[in-house]
Parts: sequence; structure tokens; C-alpha cells
Amino acid sequence: MTQTETLKSEIVKIGKKLYANKFIAAYDGNISVRLDNNNVLTTPSGVCKGAITEQDILEINQQGEIVNGKGKPSSELRMHLLCYRLRPGINALIHAHPALCTALTIAGVSLAEPVIPEMVLTIGDVPTAAYATPTTSEVPESIKNLIPGHDAVLLERHGTITLGKNLDEAYYKLEKLEHSAKTILSARQLAVVKPLTTEQVKKLVDLRNSYKQ
Ligand SMILES: [Zn+2]
Repeated sequence: MTQTETLKSEIVKIGKKLYANKFIAAYDGNISVRLDNNNVLTTPSGVCKGAITEQDILEINQQGEIVNGKGKPSSELRMHLLCYRLRPGINALIHAHPALCTALTIAGVSLAEPVIPEMVLTIGDVPTAAYATPTTSEVPESIKNLIPGHDAVLLERHGTITLGKNLDEAYYKLEKLEHSAKTILSARQLAVVKPLTTEQVKKLVDLRNSYKQ
């Protein structure tokens, strides 16, 4: 199998998982991966990502032009291309609409607050990008200062962006975000949630940095 064929089948597999786990509804969300030639494979707009096939996937160059495939790229493609430009080490991006992460942003609850040690250890703080009209250039504008330092960002009232060296990494970050959102929502229903202390966070950050070395 060529790299393109392998990655197309991975996109199809991830699309099914996103839909089956309700991280997207109807035609929502988009998935992309970067090829060795710096082109990007991405899902088309107007189709359910849970039902796409390899034939539906488009190859796009860094200018956003279709190199291979039939169909229309997502209006959120600009956001994907911006992320690849800003993060040379990143090769995969998932944009989804997970209900609980989005609910937290509507309620003004931030996932940047350190509450769950596992999150601090693995993903770090997750900022919320200011509200931007979906599908417009406001979206890349709202994330451009956050992407260089973060692999996961919440979009206010809209959804999530998760980045990875590969698609599995981007997918599992999304899964962790939504699981954390669920945990935080449950805790807030029970009591006032206290963040971890500065000392607790410092130990976790030191541990995280030691993994990277
Ligand atoms: Zn969206």
C-alpha cells in the first residue's frame, strides 16, 4: 500500500469512530493528515464522516487547491492548513463537535484550569479560542496564537481541534478531552470544583517534561 492509500483508510476508520462515539453529528467535523510531499488528505464537506469511503477523500495542496479527488473541501480547511504551517511536527488534525466540551465553552467553563491530573500530565492546559463565526476566516484567526503552544484547543460554542503526530494521537486527545469534560461536568453538579494546587501542578508538569526527554 502507498502512504496515500494507508492514510485514506485510516481517515475512513477515524470517521467511523467519531460518528459512532457521537463526537460529530450529521455532516459535522473534518479530518486531515499531512503527506510526505506536504499535501494534505482531507474529508469532503456535505457528507457524514461516519459513512465516507476512501474514494471520497480529497488531496489538497498547501494553497488549498484540489490535487486529487472529486468533491468540495470543508470550509474549515483553512484552519487545517494554518495548523500544518504553524506546527511542522504535526501530521494529523481532527475537528469535531463533542457535546460536553462544547457545552463547557457555552457555560464559560475552561479546560485550561488544572483539575484532572491525568489531563495536566498528558495534554497540558487546553485553551478556549474566542468565538468565531464557523466556516469563515474568523476561525483560523481565533486559533493562530494558540496552536503553536497547544495540541488541543476548544472553540467557543463550536467544538474542538486536536493535533497529533498521527491520526490515532489526534483521536485519543479528542477522546480524553470529552471524557474530562464529562468528569468536570459531573463534579460541578455535585459540588464547587477546586483546581489542583500550584505545587501539585508543578509536580505534574515536571513529570510531563521528564517524559519528553
Ligand atoms: Zn465545526
